Amino acid sequence: SSFYEITPREDFNAPRMLARLSANENPYGPSPAVVEAIKEAVVTGNRYAHRDASDLIEMIAKKEGVSPKHIMLGPGSSDLLEKMAFVSFPSGGNIVSADPAYMSIISTARALGASWKPVKLKSDYSHDLMAMKSAIDNDTKLVYVCNPNNPTGSITASDKLRTFCSDVSTKVPVFVDEAYLEFLDDSQSHSMVDLVTKGDDVIVARTFSKIHGMAGLRIGYIVAQPERISAITDKVRSTMGLCSTSLKGAIASMSDAQFTAECKKLNTECRNYVVDKITSLGYDVIPSSTSFVLFPIAMDGMDFMKAMNESGVSIRVFSIDEKPYCRVSMGTMEEMEYFVETFEKVTA
Ligand code: PLP
Repeated sequence: SSFYEITPREDFNAPRMLARLSANENPYGPSPAVVEAIKEAVVTGNRYAHRDASDLIEMIAKKEGVSPKHIMLGPGSSDLLEKMAFVSFPSGGNIVSADPAYMSIISTARALGASWKPVKLKSDYSHDLMAMKSAIDNDTKLVYVCNPNNPTGSITASDKLRTFCSDVSTKVPVFVDEAYLEFLDDSQSHSMVDLVTKGDDVIVARTFSKIHGMAGLRIGYIVAQPERISAITDKVRSTMGLCSTSLKGAIASMSDAQFTAECKKLNTECRNYVVDKITSLGYDVIPSSTSFVLFPIAMDGMDFMKAMNESGVSIRVFSIDEKPYCRVSMGTMEEMEYFVETFEKVTA
């Protein structure tokens, strides 16, 4: 592949920072309604969460226009990415994805003995769908598409992606990771969930970690054909990993559209601010549809990261085509002002 992460693993639980801009967390969440719901839910914590899980599944099914059988919950979408890898790669094979991509499912697939067939993003940072289709061979067990993509923040046009998924899924299941979907305008129109409704072998992943501001509370879900879900749940009980406080929190958050709309608005304001500032400093910022921004930097990646960390700003650094890139998550406006100030100082 053409990219790898420079940030060392141990830096993920970096010391407390003044501005924590390394993990695409929502700086505003969870909503006050979620906090209240969780407080109330604590007292029934002696019970397993199966009832709460089916309540949330029902809510999600209604929202997505599918049956509850099409939904599986997990403690974060990470868990579902892993479980999907477990059932897809029992005996090797390969996974086709973009390069760069979000590596979770690819890393798990490789740990299970599968190989990765990376397909470079196009020059506009959208998926090269034709090249991905050509990369599929008889050993391909899964195609992974992250849209909008991480770490680039870029988007692939939904009409083109829909045609690709519909076509490819007749041969190989397609996993579409929509963790950042809700940061788009008219977000549901960009989703591939309608293909699941249509009966296509497409698995769509969503999370409460981003727009809902619940990353530490761990709730995510997939929308997929019931057979795909039972392939997982026949082997592992699907709701045993879930926590009733977080489930009740997610239920409350789904009813708080005002909160998520406000998060989206503030995220866009911060992103516009950062893009303007960094562009005016002479950098080519990749157009972002997400809660983070990626751009190439003009100094050694590790030196850059250390200098930013020393000023209390955590970011992530990637190497793409042997050039260092900074990925910065959107915090509050105050944090982004501090990021820009620190960036100017560090790169001066
Ligand atoms: N998918 C993408 C594209 C992500 O960026 C992330 C987290 O950053 C995840 C999935 C996993 O998120 P979670 O396990 O919190 O749902």
